[in-house]
Amino acid sequence: SYNSIIDLREKEQVVQDYASFLKQIDTKSENDTRSLQRKQSESVEGKTLFVKGNYSTKGEPTTCGSKALFGYDSPISATVVDLLENSGALILGKTNLDEFGMGSSTTFSAYGPTKHFLKTNDGLEAVNKLKKHVDVGEITSNETQNSVNLEEDRCSGGSSGGSAVVVGAGLCNAALGSDTGGSVRLPASWCGVVGFKPSYGQCSRYGLVEYASSLDTVGILGESVSTTRAVYKTMAKYDSKDMSCLPEKARSALERLYNSTKGSNSVASDHEKPNLKGIRVGIPQEYYIKELSESVVQAWKHTSKILEQMGAEVVKVSLPHTKYALSTYYTIAPAEASSNLARYDGIRYGYKHTDEIPDEASGTSSTSSSSYAAGRSFMNKYAYTRAMGLGPEVQRRIMLGTFVLSVGTLRCKNPTESAVDLLLVPTGCSTAPPLSAFSAGDHENKSASSDYILHSYVNDVMTVPSSLAGLPSISIPVGISKTDGFPIGLQLISQFGNDDSVLDVALKLE
Ligand code: GLN
Repeated sequence: SYNSIIDLREKEQVVQDYASFLKQIDTKSENDTRSLQRKQSESVEGKTLFVKGNYSTKGEPTTCGSKALFGYDSPISATVVDLLENSGALILGKTNLDEFGMGSSTTFSAYGPTKHFLKTNDGLEAVNKLKKHVDVGEITSNETQNSVNLEEDRCSGGSSGGSAVVVGAGLCNAALGSDTGGSVRLPASWCGVVGFKPSYGQCSRYGLVEYASSLDTVGILGESVSTTRAVYKTMAKYDSKDMSCLPEKARSALERLYNSTKGSNSVASDHEKPNLKGIRVGIPQEYYIKELSESVVQAWKHTSKILEQMGAEVVKVSLPHTKYALSTYYTIAPAEASSNLARYDGIRYGYKHTDEIPDEASGTSSTSSSSYAAGRSFMNKYAYTRAMGLGPEVQRRIMLGTFVLSVGTLRCKNPTESAVDLLLVPTGCSTAPPLSAFSAGDHENKSASSDYILHSYVNDVMTVPSSLAGLPSISIPVGISKTDGFPIGLQLISQFGNDDSVLDVALKLE
């Protein structure tokens, strides 16, 4: 469906998993069962989930959307997958992604692109059926229906496009994505679902295939904030197998810190409205960029008004370093990727190039000595395996990464204190663009123009700043564009480790 699923589990396997979970419950004491019921709202028990194709699942294909991993079955399961299954979640299968998580469109996959589940002409009707959507009201848009081709397929966003589509299309309750620079939030925004990137280190990355290790986070795409929160709570645990996973001590220190500062600026836990009194929400002026579409600007204004009506104080703030975020991200992420992806050499994993290598490349000229020729031939096998196994976008990132690693060093300043509790900013610059906007970058096209490539990187301008700072950020659907009937998402961003506050406020906005 929409090419969003790359590996569906056997029905028998899913039924068996569920039966063994029910057995566990049966053997629990009555007290345990009662406390389990109390925790129901925070539980993933019986919830159906897909996981993105870059999570390891034991004995099953883990391809990351790359030919380089065709034929590779993982010997382990990711810690977060184990945690979910042990809590009674049913994992149904794996979803499509941009190869190794590199992209914003889910077009850079060896399985082909994942399309949006809505079309413009049936979009309005279908989107209206999606729960919890509010019409953003007064769109004084200068965008016109005429500029939109009603028949054209739309882009699902990426790199977790498969996960966004399976949730948006109602095939499951939630799906795991991964977010290095926005890969959960952007597709969530374009597909009208919730997308949460926790603070860096909250959830174990063990078994999540590396892209850029200092930025990679486990992320959740959910049908609602409460389902998203339940999945997050199940996974936010220390794991000794991931050295960047926050240890218990740090978790309790963060909890104490945010509980002690709660007082007047706490988000009331009941569901009465308005109840955001004492909360300051910042609107960073640097996020008003010319690329923002009119509908997104209107949705942003509309949502800040709603927050005000709920008692929050909404203030303009300035984050002057925002303009450096995109270029900083596209320096750090490829640098780490080039090192992380060195392992796909055809020796340890998946795809090996075995076909005959053309004479001129094999180095077996008559003037070479035989050991030199053997070395050349080995290097060529290695190079060919990488050239044929890795897609064009991944190769571009590796080239960029090896280049930036050789030119200089990066320095970091101390974070300054913030005067607001939360930031409210758009997730994407527009609604889901037509798939054709990304066709120049499809997996087979090795010669995409540099203009096209830069343009596609600009989609991440709203999401990478909080990735660089490791901050918890959630994208929630806040409205539908009157221009094209497609969903619009906004992000709430909080301080490092204060994940609960973004979830709490997001819950109020549902
Ligand atoms: N689009 C960004 C990139 O290509 C973000 C990807 C991600 O978060 N995995 O790097």
